[in-house]
Amino acid sequence: MLSKKLLQIVPSATFAMKAKAQELIRQGKKIVSLTIGECDLPMPKHVSSAALAAIQAGHHNYTDSGGLYELKQAIINKFKRDNNIDYTVNQVMAATGGKQALYNIFQAILNPGDEVILPEPFWVSYIEQIHLADGVPVVINTIPNNFKLTAELVKQAITPKTKAVVLNSPSNPTGVIVDDQELKKIAELAVKHNFYVISDEVYEFLYFTEKKPLSIASFGKEIFDLTLTVNAISKSFSMTGWRLGFVGGSAEIIKLMDNLQSQSTSNPNIIAQYAAIAALNGDLKCVYEMRDVFKVRRDFIKSKLATIPNIEVAPMEGAFYAFINVGKYFNNQIKSSFDFCLKLLGEVGLGLTPGGAFGPSCDQYVRMSYAADIDVLEEGILRLKKFLKN
Ligand code: PMP
Ligand code: GLU
Repeated sequence: MLSKKLLQIVPSATFAMKAKAQELIRQGKKIVSLTIGECDLPMPKHVSSAALAAIQAGHHNYTDSGGLYELKQAIINKFKRDNNIDYTVNQVMAATGGKQALYNIFQAILNPGDEVILPEPFWVSYIEQIHLADGVPVVINTIPNNFKLTAELVKQAITPKTKAVVLNSPSNPTGVIVDDQELKKIAELAVKHNFYVISDEVYEFLYFTEKKPLSIASFGKEIFDLTLTVNAISKSFSMTGWRLGFVGGSAEIIKLMDNLQSQSTSNPNIIAQYAAIAALNGDLKCVYEMRDVFKVRRDFIKSKLATIPNIEVAPMEGAFYAFINVGKYFNNQIKSSFDFCLKLLGEVGLGLTPGGAFGPSCDQYVRMSYAADIDVLEEGILRLKKFLKN
């Protein structure tokens, strides 16, 4: 008998849908893949130059498992500059992507039966990572509240077993941002009931609201002590394949995470670390230029989707996803978001990700990643319209 725990884990739907689309592309089919969420724009030149320089300088050794001292300094500077959070060197570490940072966190804070409040729709990996750490996800549905997480919703889910809440703002898959006043109230709840806040801020620069969303750890000493702020160079610098994420939090938790990493993967790739130093210490002009491109795409997709009858779209405030309710198009053959996406891919060659992967209440939805060129997006919309007409 193989591991009972792993036999229960479902593969990441985002990767699965990308793989399905890729397979058809390999067969020569003309597929529009708006599946996985990753930026198509090139990574910044000064960052790739720094990586090349690191190779040429001959950097080839292990580093501290939590990352180079210089990288930790760059992470500290970044958190101070962009998020108004003051971490010290033993309160930060790097990992192989934001995903590993999150995995380490759940492993470090959870004991069997501990509850983690998970606002739905949620990014696919949180729930499985909580299961892997023997935690119990307590899903709270934000859909009836137009996808907006409120402190009241969090409050209703608190029990004596609550260990943490996961925040992801701007959100994957909805693009919705938690309002600052609600964030403040959630911070008060966490302090009052003494639970951790895992604040996943990987889409921090992809906001289309007037003002940049705040980081919950910046609200004061008490919430700072309870917050784990997760980020990565993946989305902000268009470097998903480089696998470099990082986290700030209490020294006690960071130490446990570092211990785990030292016994599992060791340090993230050293060249990716040098690239991250350049990215995090460098000017943010390139990041805001990418955001401007995404804003144009967001406006384009939003206006196109508005012309399609009988669908509803979550408020597109940030990240690069449209979360679309297509439930009115379900029929005898299409009974779930998974059926919908498979048929859509098979019949018109458009790849989207089934909403059902983002939570039990999301099965009428599909997620469209608009991290693609306008021409590709236009073709994607045409194919979606064609499919819905049939
Ligand atoms: N959090 C969210 C909300 C994400 O969408 C992703 C996906 N990339 C991650 C974390 C993980 O990012 P990384 O690629 O750095 O592992
Ligand atoms: N976060 C992206 C997505 O949701 C990348 C894939 C993943 O890490 O799941 O598509």
